Amino acid sequence: MPYSYEAPVSQTLFDRASRVTPGGVNSPVRAFRAVGGTPRFMVSGDGPYLTDADGREYVDLVCSWGPMILGHSHPEVIAAVQEAVARGTSFGTPGEGEVALAEEIVDRVAPVEQVRLVSSGTEATMSAIRLARGFTGRAKVVKFAGCYHGHVDALLAAAGSGLATFALPDTPGVTGAQAGDTIVLPYNDLDAVREAFAANPGQIACVITEASPGNMGVVPPAEGFNQGLKDLCAEHGALFVSDEVMTGFRTSRAGWFGVDGVVPDLMTFGKVMGGGFPAAAFGGRAEVMAHLAPAGPVYQAGTLSGNPVATAAGLAQLRLLDDGAYAKVDAVSREIQELVSIALNKEGVAHRVQTASSMFSVFFTGDEVRNYEDAKRQESFRFTAFFHAMLAEGVYLPPSAFESWFVSSAHDARAIERIADALPAAARAAAQATPGGAA
Ligand SMILES: *Cc1c(COP(=O)(O)O)cnc(C)c1O
Repeated sequence: MPYSYEAPVSQTLFDRASRVTPGGVNSPVRAFRAVGGTPRFMVSGDGPYLTDADGREYVDLVCSWGPMILGHSHPEVIAAVQEAVARGTSFGTPGEGEVALAEEIVDRVAPVEQVRLVSSGTEATMSAIRLARGFTGRAKVVKFAGCYHGHVDALLAAAGSGLATFALPDTPGVTGAQAGDTIVLPYNDLDAVREAFAANPGQIACVITEASPGNMGVVPPAEGFNQGLKDLCAEHGALFVSDEVMTGFRTSRAGWFGVDGVVPDLMTFGKVMGGGFPAAAFGGRAEVMAHLAPAGPVYQAGTLSGNPVATAAGLAQLRLLDDGAYAKVDAVSREIQELVSIALNKEGVAHRVQTASSMFSVFFTGDEVRNYEDAKRQESFRFTAFFHAMLAEGVYLPPSAFESWFVSSAHDARAIERIADALPAAARAAAQATPGGAA
């Protein structure tokens, strides 16, 4: 076997980390709790590869959860960062880099007339919702089960019993009051949205949705779903907020808007637009954005917003992402999807590959996955076995069955060959897995 399964240096680092950081990580999914085992501590990335602290190289199919669409350490992005760093790292004043990045976003995404830069996707969705509430003078927010919009209090809510009931806090620390203005509905169900508007006349500020969800695995909107949301919002005086933090600048030059053309009132971005740095944004109709301070009364601010190094990285990455780059990423993704399906079919493993442009995930079920309830019905114990077999062979997958896989334009023939070589054993492991079986 080219890759030993042991990871002693990562384990030592994880032990150290667990003493000083809750659970040993700074974002929960990194801890491998869904799949078990030792999280790999990475020390470097180059193109489609990551190298861990034990000196093992992996083909990376996480790409930092989306941002690294050109692969790691792209020379032009690195050069732009080095050039920016040499001029100083933060000024607390406006600068040309943030203007250029805002212009690039406005140029690419037609519904965005004005944009405000922030530092994380969480900040972007939190601010968009505040703005929607400030603009409409209404309190309630509709979201969908299985859609993730960052760890915004009001959006960390789970559906209560029955449709269109008020949400319950999904985590300690979120109060009933914070979750109480959130209405959680099943995804891809326009009737549920219609009922929510009817039951809450004049009270719903906005409907927020992932443009094409990737945080319950990839579950694209049914034909007409996003347009239906837009139309219902327009009919009832609410704003349609499309969260493109994951899909933005990944699923096309103009993100998911470039795929389905549905025009939101507000949009949120992150991940790809930061080029691997903390940069995110929300934007939309100028008339709505004008309500934001200092132009208008809705307060929003950030010490490091529009940071010159982050904006230089994001701008360099976006400028390299032309139609040719997207075609390449899409082609790489299709090739990997096919290889996975062939390997799983060969072992008779029921599965479904669902896609949104280059984003895809492999559900271990024979049935179509249209919402979170469907996603939870998959045999995720098969994913666990599959994940560890791939890891052992040097392929780094998202450590959960409920995530999108991400590829980059740097995934070349050699990287794909490594994935192909790893798949037969992983498919066999998936076939042989049993519920509750050891990974
Ligand atoms: C990642 C993500 C967020 C949160 O972004 P952070 O930068 O992690 O705060 C919000 N919405 C969607 C759709 C995401 O995928």
